[in-house]
Amino acid sequence: MARILIIEDNPANMKLATFLLISAGHEVLQAVDAESGLEQIHAKLPELVLMDVQLPGMDGLAATRRIKADPAIAHIPVIALTSHAMRGDEEAILAAGCESYLPKPFHHRELLELVNVMLERSQKRRDTK
Ligand code: MN
Repeated sequence: MARILIIEDNPANMKLATFLLISAGHEVLQAVDAESGLEQIHAKLPELVLMDVQLPGMDGLAATRRIKADPAIAHIPVIALTSHAMRGDEEAILAAGCESYLPKPFHHRELLELVNVMLERSQKRRDTK
């Protein structure tokens, strides 16, 4: 069970991801753009961020670069939510600092498994500190 921030401007994707994560017992925070998402990260320190790449205004990769450049929040793992148009852009996504990515449309199980893997990994990092 974790506090997870979803930054996603597509209402259907937001609704689905929120439903799946809440059903799995997580606490969900929502933002529809990168600017308000960054504010929530600072204010509420989620344990994981699901970051849509294509957002109005600042895009998800620029937002991830900001997260990773800020020592107060750089430890928070970011999973990029990518569209078909971005296939082949994995390098750019990882170079921006995203720990992982999930192509949309995602299957329910893929999302939950990836979220669990990322949460376990960051838990292990904390335990070994
Ligand atoms: Mn989008």
